[in-house]
Order: sequence, then structure tokens, then C-alpha cells
Amino acid sequence: MTTPGFAASIIDGKAVAAALRAEVAARVSTLPFRPGLAVVLVGDDPASQVYVRNKDRAAQAAGIAARTLRLPADTTEAALLATVCALNADAAIDGILVQMPLPLHIRAQAVIEAIDPAKDVDGLTPVNAGLLAAGRPRLVPCTPAGVMKLLAAAGVNPAGARAMVLGRSVLVGRPMAALLTAADATVTLAHSRTRDLPAECRRAEILIAAAGRAEMVRGGWIAPGATVIDVGINRRPDGTLAGDVAHAEALAIAGRITPVPGGVGPMTIACLLENTVLAATRRRAART
Ligand code: NDP
Repeated sequence: MTTPGFAASIIDGKAVAAALRAEVAARVSTLPFRPGLAVVLVGDDPASQVYVRNKDRAAQAAGIAARTLRLPADTTEAALLATVCALNADAAIDGILVQMPLPLHIRAQAVIEAIDPAKDVDGLTPVNAGLLAAGRPRLVPCTPAGVMKLLAAAGVNPAGARAMVLGRSVLVGRPMAALLTAADATVTLAHSRTRDLPAECRRAEILIAAAGRAEMVRGGWIAPGATVIDVGINRRPDGTLAGDVAHAEALAIAGRITPVPGGVGPMTIACLLENTVLAATRRRAART
């Protein structure tokens, strides 16, 4: 049932991210060193170029020494592994991020596994993924970390709540489910083989959509008053961006919802900066 004229409140990711970035910049200004972040981009995927540029700018603005390494699309796996090893050994670099997706001839997993876990600001190495799964998070993937901060900023406490994560990728869905579990939610992790997805979604008090399918979650899939976090970034044929949630329909039934753009996206970058400072302080403290 929807109430005529009802509209969910919008969770403003831009504002929450701006506050976090300011907090990170303030922390950096107190450090006796400049944290170093290396972002590696292989090839010329246009979306990746935009993401990398935004990360570089945000890092510089926070006082982090960001270095973007642009490698040609025909870079071999061996050459990329050598680049990662050199960054592992570089004392000025605290965080390493290899922008995904990589060209098909390179095994992404091999590259991720080569990153020093202490510098793994994307939280994707088996060591960091394992620590998170074991309930001892260290460096956590930026997008799900950002979602947890958005929930907190919106005053949503996951403890005891029924939460549903739509999508089980290593980058978003799985770590998202682990973080919600650690926050004492009762978590359902759904995917392309889930039976009766609309019914599963309707049970959720917190619904995190990360399937990469434009506007797949319809208004009728959402429980009245639910908190809906839309992680999806999908390009419509006309070039505009759409989330995984049919936003206008969801507005009439959800209690709170994130927009696309301006929701989760800005949080991902802000959490990358936070992870870089975390990695830098831990690593440099361990060396002294
Ligand atoms: P992946 O393609 O790696 O994973 C998608 C997941 O969704 C899979 O687990 C898949 O199931 C599931 N899925 C796909 N289609 C369906 C369907 N029809 N029904 C049920 N489940 C389905 O994507 P990512 O996790 O990398 O990204 C998800 C979305 O989030 C994308 O739109 C991406 O652009 C966006 N994103 C946004 C970020 C941000 O900063 N806002 C950062 C990262 C991603 P199965 O495992 O069974 O195949």
C-alpha cells in the first residue's frame, strides 16, 4: 500500500562523502608524512578513465600524494605483475589500487593476489577478504564500507534487521553481506539463481541492490518504509545513468533511498581515501 503524496527521504551520498573527505583531509594534515596512493589503469576504457581521474583528484584534495600509472591496453600480465611488485616495494606508496576491469588477457585474480595486503586499499586480496569473512575486518572494500556509513548517517541501525543484498560479487555483494552480518543484521544474499526475487526483496527492511541491471528492482518489490541503497551504476541507451532500482516507483514506498548518481558512488571514493590513511598509519607504525 502506498500513501498518496508520500515520498521516501533521500540519503544524500554527496553530503556524507564530503564530510568524510573533510575528516580524512583533517587527519592527513596532522600526519608527519604524506600518505601515498598508486592507482594503476590498464587500457583506455572510458568509464575507468573517469573513475581514475576522480580518485586522483579526490586524493590530491585530501592531501594524499596520488600517482596514476597509465599502462597501454596490450600490457602483458607479467609486466603488470612487475609494476605491482615495484609498488609493493616502494616505501612512499601506502595504497595500491588496480582499476577493474582489466583487459581479458590479464587474470585479474593473479594481479589482486600480487598486491601486498597491507597496501590493499580496495580490500580485495584473499588476506583482507578472509579477515572480513572471519569477522576481523582490516582493509574493507570501499563500496560496501561506504554503504555502511550511509546507513549510519541515515540513522539506520542494522542490528536485528532483515537485510537483503542483491548481488554476490567479490567487489560488492559478498563483503556487503559480511559487513551487515558483523553489524548483527539477519542477511539474505541473493543472486541470479534466487527463486522469487521480488518476494525475497519484499521481506527486507534494508535492501541493498548491486546486480548491475538498470531499474530491475520495481516499487512492488519493496516493503513499505524499507531503507533502499542503490549501488547500481548502469548507462541507459540515451547515455544517462540509472541505478538498479526503479527510483520513481521506489520513492512512493520506501522509507529512505539513495539516488543514482549522488548516492553510493561518492562514498566509494571517500572510503578509498579513508582506507589509504588507515593503511598508511598502520604500515608506518609497524615499521617504527
Ligand atoms: P557483478 O556483475 O560482478 O555482479 C552482479 C551480481 O548480481 C552477481 O552476483 C549476479 O548473480 C547478480 N545478478 C545479476 N543479474 C541478476 C538478476 N537478474 N537477478 C538476480 N541477481 C542478478 O557486478 P558488481 O558487483 O561489480 O557491480 C554491481 C553494480 O554496482 C553495477 O551496476 C556496478 O556498476 C555498480 N557498482 C557501483 C559502485 C559504486 O561506487 N557505486 C562500485 C562498484 C560497482 P550471479 O552471481 O548469480 O551471476
